[in-house]
Amino acid sequence: MDKKGIVLITGAAGFIGSHLVDKFLNEGYEVVGVDNYLTGNPQNLSHLAKNHSFNFIEADVSLKKEIEKIELFAQEENIKFDAVLHFACPASPVDYLKFPLETMKVDSYGTFNTLEMAHKMSAIYVMASTSEVYGDPEIHPQVESYWGNVNPNGPRSVYDEAKRFSEAAVMAYNRQFGLDSRILRIFNTYGPRMKINDGRVVPNFIYQVIKGEDITVYGDGSQSRSFCYVDDLVEGIFRFSTFPGLSGEIMNLGNPEEYKIIDFAQIILEKMNGNSKISFKPLPADDPRQRRPDVSKAYKLINWEAKTSLDSGLERTIKFFKNVVNRP
Ligand code: NAD
Ligand code: UDP
Repeated sequence: MDKKGIVLITGAAGFIGSHLVDKFLNEGYEVVGVDNYLTGNPQNLSHLAKNHSFNFIEADVSLKKEIEKIELFAQEENIKFDAVLHFACPASPVDYLKFPLETMKVDSYGTFNTLEMAHKMSAIYVMASTSEVYGDPEIHPQVESYWGNVNPNGPRSVYDEAKRFSEAAVMAYNRQFGLDSRILRIFNTYGPRMKINDGRVVPNFIYQVIKGEDITVYGDGSQSRSFCYVDDLVEGIFRFSTFPGLSGEIMNLGNPEEYKIIDFAQIILEKMNGNSKISFKPLPADDPRQRRPDVSKAYKLINWEAKTSLDSGLERTIKFFKNVVNRP
């Protein structure tokens, strides 16, 4: 076999997971994708139906019984995973507020189950953490050494605290068993294959302009986010997962270009030549005021930085959403 290795990716039918599957396949790896379609879409993987280097297992990784499906597959195929990438988890605030318990379970039981699998197979383990572990940050931009400012029981806690718990579990396996486990803190990422109605700001604004509806800015729009195009992100994830010597590392990945949400609404309007108006809606509870990654660690350790301009990333994303809307 001429393959570089075999990678297990949970959340493979989701937005980032499906791009990650493509990236590893393009780099010459064999990939086993797992998903229970809670927020994912089979169409994100439909182009791989005939790809012999890709296998898909429908399973809920929070359930031990369903994890056995993956173990059985590995036994039958006589394979062991070289890396386990745990990306399963609703990521849009609308999704995780709709599925609060599923979110907590996949980033607790799901993390333990996949960590155990990586430990048994001596695989590298990569956990998809988030800038949300910094909560409503008092340090700006956010650097990996910052512990964060998170409401432990507010509505967003089902996501933020589950991710923080996952980080603790990843480090416990690293310290107790010497597992080569790594934590990625992903900042707001956008691009094709996001669900048009998943409630995040990029699909919301674009879809609203396509429909000629008002753009909904929450609060006064002075809160900020920094947006990374998905191709840049998966390049960073690939490097972080495959470079040697990163056991126990925690790394931010994102694009440090920061925008106020009100300005971002204007950018989308102008770019799409839309005639939507802006209407202001209440700010959701605990919505972080500001967010921008410090990516100097990524630059130093994996020689990575985001390269795609907002203009070009939006161009591709808008095209994708227009196709989705026009699909019969
Ligand atoms: P997504 O909702 O598109 O993808 C998540 C996938 O996980 C879906 O396909 C869903 O069906 C699957 N899933 C959920 N629970 C599962 C379970 N119990 N068993 C198996 N599969 C399950 O979200 P995304 O934007 O692609 O995010 C992927 C990962 O990246 C998540 O862990 C998220 O927390 C993290 N992340 C994303 C962003 C971002 O901007 N997109 C930012 C920070 C962190
Ligand atoms: N937001 C907005 N209008 C929308 C959707 C989101 O103003 O229709 C704001 C939201 O309040 C937040 C920012 O855009 O301040 C990013 O929201 P998103 O849900 O994309 O991601 P978050 O960073 O909050 O997880």
